[in-house]
Amino acid sequence: MVKIVVIGSSSMDLVVTSDQRPGAGETVLGRSFKTVPGGKGANQAVAAARLGAEVYMIGCVGDDHYGAAILENFKQNAVDATNVEPVTHTESGTAHIILAEGDNSIVVVKGANDHVTPHYVKKSELLIKQANMVLIQQEIPEETVEYVSELCQELDVPLLLNPAPARPLSKKVIDSVSYITPNEHEAAVLFDNLSTESALKQYSNKVFITEGKAGARYFDGEKEITVPSYTVEAIDTTGAGDTFNAALAVALAEGKSINESLQFANRAASLSVTKFGAQGGMPNRTEVEASL
Ligand code: ADP
Repeated sequence: MVKIVVIGSSSMDLVVTSDQRPGAGETVLGRSFKTVPGGKGANQAVAAARLGAEVYMIGCVGDDHYGAAILENFKQNAVDATNVEPVTHTESGTAHIILAEGDNSIVVVKGANDHVTPHYVKKSELLIKQANMVLIQQEIPEETVEYVSELCQELDVPLLLNPAPARPLSKKVIDSVSYITPNEHEAAVLFDNLSTESALKQYSNKVFITEGKAGARYFDGEKEITVPSYTVEAIDTTGAGDTFNAALAVALAEGKSINESLQFANRAASLSVTKFGAQGGMPNRTEVEASL
């Protein structure tokens, strides 16, 4: 079993479905309400555990009942959450989602995720040192991503950065991470003065651009390669990127080639879109291998 350390956000998604979206100052009646665990960090940790890795999460929750529910969800999914601390007098991260009129509107409150600071992460340095792969996203403070990229380089531990949500990154960070996986929109923000073609070329075997159902693209040093995804009936694409990143991290940590790892990631992510919910659709190892 490979050891994956995920450094990132965990939150509770509060999802309302409604026929109508309320305008400013307006009240409407909704149809349903549910709470589902989410956050890119937590989603990727759960996905990697289902795919057979030994997963350790480093993050923060609030000292509220959402925090307790988030921790319980890690336990249910065999993710080690010893390093997910409840922060006193702080609320858990939440996403307030309204699904109405065929689209969603979301307000994200970062809450405890803002407490995932370099100082906090440093306490788990020994754990990070033992990882076969570290996986990080951008729903935690920017300086933490910078710190982890330096730390992993220093410790010689491979780091996969999923640059979501999009924000510009210093060249130093891009240079120091082992792998980086923007979708097309994130790639445009990340490499603002470069075309995606030249970014792929400049960072061959490191930048993998995901393109929804088309799969993922990279440059292997000689030529650009597209690894196509699998054709499925897409029901809900929430969490596709999270499943993709987790699967890619697991496969690369296991020593699979880049091409094989991207196939594995596409397969896992394509299966995830055939069911509702981010974590709800994440497949286990047997399901992925049976359909490769
Ligand atoms: P994000 O969810 O971060 O925006 P993408 O939309 O590029 O990222 O999707 C990530 C990956 O999920 C893709 O590279 C692909 O493997 C898979 N995927 C997403 N949508 C589909 C789909 N409709 N059919 C098959 N695979 C999909």
